[in-house]
Amino acid sequence: MHIKNSEQLFQRAQKSIPGGVNSPVRAFKSVGGNPIFIQKAKGAYLYDEDGNAYIDYIASWGPMILGHAYEPVIKAIQEKAAFSTSFGAPTQLEIEMAELIISMVPNVDLIRMVSSGTEACMSALRLARGYTGKNKFIKFEGCYHGHADAFLVKAGSGVATFNIQTVPGIPAAVSDDTLTCAYNDLNAVEKLVAAHPNEIAAIIVEPVAGNMGCILPEQGFLEGLRKICTQHNIVLIFDEVMTGFRLAAGGAQQRLSIDADLITYGKVIGAGMPVGAFGGKKEIMQHIAPLGNVYQAGTLSGNPIAMIAGFTLLTELKNNPAIYKELDDKTTYLHKGLDEVFAASKTPYTINRLGSMISVHFSNKPVTNFETAAAANNDLFKKYFHAMLKRGIYLPPSPFESWFLNNALTYADLDKTIAASKESLQEIL
Ligand SMILES: *Cc1c(COP(=O)(O)O)cnc(C)c1O
Repeated sequence: MHIKNSEQLFQRAQKSIPGGVNSPVRAFKSVGGNPIFIQKAKGAYLYDEDGNAYIDYIASWGPMILGHAYEPVIKAIQEKAAFSTSFGAPTQLEIEMAELIISMVPNVDLIRMVSSGTEACMSALRLARGYTGKNKFIKFEGCYHGHADAFLVKAGSGVATFNIQTVPGIPAAVSDDTLTCAYNDLNAVEKLVAAHPNEIAAIIVEPVAGNMGCILPEQGFLEGLRKICTQHNIVLIFDEVMTGFRLAAGGAQQRLSIDADLITYGKVIGAGMPVGAFGGKKEIMQHIAPLGNVYQAGTLSGNPIAMIAGFTLLTELKNNPAIYKELDDKTTYLHKGLDEVFAASKTPYTINRLGSMISVHFSNKPVTNFETAAAANNDLFKKYFHAMLKRGIYLPPSPFESWFLNNALTYADLDKTIAASKESLQEIL
């Protein structure tokens, strides 16, 4: 495999862009080697600047749930762009987008559009604080809620990948109000709540974690959080930036039958355009400006190009529920195939999966939180990653990220992935 053009581009990129990338995990630092520069993508395939093709398990970290360059989305963007790319004034399309989301997620009464998942989580936290008049909140180790100051405490994703323990530039006065405990540890949550009576505004959680690999909520964990929040007047925020419109049309809330008070969205909601959103019960959402005094704004929020892309994709997901069954079946098939080749290799491994989120950990212990994810043999993951890449399979370049399947993947693609896994394990073990 030639990667000469990618290597040259990376040398050049580092002269003008910090680390050569605009988001840290893309730099491949944790798996070693140089990043691949992508030229284009179609369906389930990425094509790099040297003409290599890869089967894609990142799907732009989720948005490409129906595959890259999905024709209805591309066509809608092209048509809309001719009408101008932004107005800074309201449009009918924003109402249609809000109505569509509300029709897919029953417990969302009001929804505000923003331009990223980071903004969605940051704004939801501010709203929870403004609504309750309390400052502290609980987040879970290894969960990632974007890069707003308050959340960069024991965060997952790139923060975990680069092993950044404390982030310089975040004042203690900010991080002191961030309380953390282990994912799936309901007892620890109860203790924190008891230790800080009437001080906790919110509990924010990835209902299925995707930023320390894929980690499932244990039976009773989310139900327990729901109960604690109701009892103590704490706002329960589900960060569905990854799981929203992916695990089901109604996201993790629908799939797991639990209602949060506020929900944040990103990734799938914009079909690859920069979009996020937060929404929930009217009682809470009506505190957002201009209805209330919790200020939140955005020059490009509800941008017409971003809206038409998201609207077109979500309409497809709403009208064609078979997509979720197909994605589940494909991911189950991949899971089974990987299980066989990993078991045959005799290397310790654990595969976690729900719906179209899946990840492999080189550990023979159950991976249920950040500690157990970090205890896996992540050096072996690096070798596995590169062995797969060489065989045309593009996995997330970190053991602390979920893989995302897209529905353009064929069973032949999955068979290729399983066969590449078998060869890769033979090569690295
Ligand atoms: C990606 C992600 C975010 C941040 O979204 P950005 O669009 O990258 O700002 C927040 N929460 C979760 C769960 C995510 O996976």
